[in-house]
Amino acid sequence: MIIKQLLDEDFINYKKPSMFIGFPSCSWKCDKECGMQVCQNSALASSPIKDIRFKTIVNRYINNPITSSVVCGGLEPFDTWDDLYGLIAYLRVSTQDDIVIYTGYYKEEIEEYIDKLKMFPNLIVKFGRYILNHEKHFDEVLGIYLASDNQYAERIS
Ligand code: SF4
Repeated sequence: MIIKQLLDEDFINYKKPSMFIGFPSCSWKCDKECGMQVCQNSALASSPIKDIRFKTIVNRYINNPITSSVVCGGLEPFDTWDDLYGLIAYLRVSTQDDIVIYTGYYKEEIEEYIDKLKMFPNLIVKFGRYILNHEKHFDEVLGIYLASDNQYAERIS
């Protein structure tokens, strides 16, 4: 699969230590709706892509004793749906650990994909666009602060 970033240990996106996988594409919906560049992940757009096998990612995760969750994040995981679904299916062969997906979509925009993901246990999705000048708030599901009032996380399975 094509990714932009792979961090074996990340401690800022979820309450549990995580492997962080940065997905490669976004339609820049937050920028378009704000009418200016607000995306906090935009630097990733110009960073090089990496082509990596599902097996390599899963082996690195399984063999790391520090991490106990996987975070799929920016750019926009749902804009490369086949890779997102394939990776989760591959992970679930080896681990039932929490998988967190950070999306800028609202739940009603991706209901069809959410229904397909619900067949896998222990999935959490953070929904909602980034909107400039909102107050950050603490999200109990993730155990971290989210930047915009409209953003929230939900355990979907
Ligand atoms: S969905 Fe994520 S990557 Fe896309 S514009 Fe919004 S914050 Fe940036």
